[in-house]
Amino acid sequence: MNLEELYSYAKKYGFVFPSAEIYGGFSGFYDFGPLGAELKRNIESLLWKRFVTQKNFVVGIDGSIITNPQVWNASGHTQNFTDPVLVCNKCNSRFKADSFVEDLTSEPVEDLASFIEEKKPKCPNCGDELKFLGRTNLMFETVAGTKDKTYLRPETAQLIFINFKQVMNSFKIDLPFGIAQLGKSFRNEISPRDFLFRLREFNQFEIEFFVDPEEANNCPFFDKIKDNKILILSEEDQKNKQKARKVKIKDLLGKATQWHLYWLWEFYQFFVDLGIKPENLRLREHLKEELAHYAKACFDIEYKFPFGWKEIHGCAYRSDFDLKQHQTFSKTKMEVFDQKKNKRYIPHVIEPSQGIERAFLAIMFEAIKDDKLMISKQLAPIKVGILPVFNKDDFVGKANELFEEITNKGYSAMIDTRGPFVKRYDYHNKIGTFLTITLDYQTLEDGSFVIKFRDEDKLVRAKDVNEVFKLLEN
Ligand code: ATP
Repeated sequence: MNLEELYSYAKKYGFVFPSAEIYGGFSGFYDFGPLGAELKRNIESLLWKRFVTQKNFVVGIDGSIITNPQVWNASGHTQNFTDPVLVCNKCNSRFKADSFVEDLTSEPVEDLASFIEEKKPKCPNCGDELKFLGRTNLMFETVAGTKDKTYLRPETAQLIFINFKQVMNSFKIDLPFGIAQLGKSFRNEISPRDFLFRLREFNQFEIEFFVDPEEANNCPFFDKIKDNKILILSEEDQKNKQKARKVKIKDLLGKATQWHLYWLWEFYQFFVDLGIKPENLRLREHLKEELAHYAKACFDIEYKFPFGWKEIHGCAYRSDFDLKQHQTFSKTKMEVFDQKKNKRYIPHVIEPSQGIERAFLAIMFEAIKDDKLMISKQLAPIKVGILPVFNKDDFVGKANELFEEITNKGYSAMIDTRGPFVKRYDYHNKIGTFLTITLDYQTLEDGSFVIKFRDEDKLVRAKDVNEVFKLLEN
């Protein structure tokens, strides 16, 4: 399935719609329909459960989208959060230069401007020559009240840094620990494209994991993961035009610390557990010249989209840069005191950063097979489709009873009485409903019904709803 086909599928079945389509849409913005909203929420809840609720060393916050503009001066976003732009002098189309060049060559390009000068790429819209325009800032400006110019946050991370001291002091949590946040981010992308891949408004789940730099290689979980294998495109392999190779996690220790590798493995495993095949996932090490000046190392988790291997997750070792910057700008001490070691220091930070829409897109690509959405049970937007064979009061009454029982347990369900019966099975396969239950004449007599699994042709007669709960729990 290519991107256009996936886009039509998502639109047709109510997963995603272009925002304001009745007015012609708006580039870089999408709305999630009834099934998309469920799926997106499922991804978000699973992330939160796995990385916040189930980790006793991670806590969550919910910061504001608009905040004091000083935050963005301190973080460097006002000065440096820019993208290089290519412009067509004839039709005025604009492109993100680094992505444009990435599609032209598989080799790393160190100087974009000279590359453009030499290769003279043509505008895909009108065929005229493209020129390098310079860099543009990606933050959306806004005004609070009548005069305070500020920005919509371009990432969730900074809200965590500015609350670091408050969380430590109020929650009395010891290092190492992480603060997580899930929510909207906004980037005024030069050329939004590839459906949900490059948006102007999207959601991120980020963790800032604070650690004593001397303890960055002291992760108590490392032993458990060190022999696991993972596909990686290393810096050397990119420079020598080699393919990605499978290595053991411990073989990457020269490139990243134990805690950094732990977080990369955790998110990689998250995707595998949600049904993404390991051969469609790889790590890509950032080249030295790609790294922000404060980052010691950065790896992306990439997914093999039909339009190429692309980043769905980024995980950087950000050193003490952000906390130091906020200490300088706000004049608030960001140090912690380690009583055992009797030392004061500013913690270092490892930052796993997950875009929800890119995960959504990868999950959809992976799950659609033979016109069915073979999505994992945890992600399925509708867990149970309730199908009365006739749209008559006694059948619908029974369907309503079951609907209440199932949804009271927290599972999503849908009563479907639309159209011919066989077409309803087909519809539920297409939207990924985990199982359907058919209510027939026998249901009216003894309460039993027929369960059909999406992934098998098998039909099973179930005595009552407890059998459905057992299937949903496992
Ligand atoms: P890219 O190089 O593709 O612009 P990035 O390196 O700037 O991405 P990060 O700043 O590392 O992205 O953001 C972390 C994560 O947020 C990404 O891995 C991605 O999942 C998501 N993300 C970033 N920008 C966008 C966007 N414009 N639309 C959708 N998701 C995004």
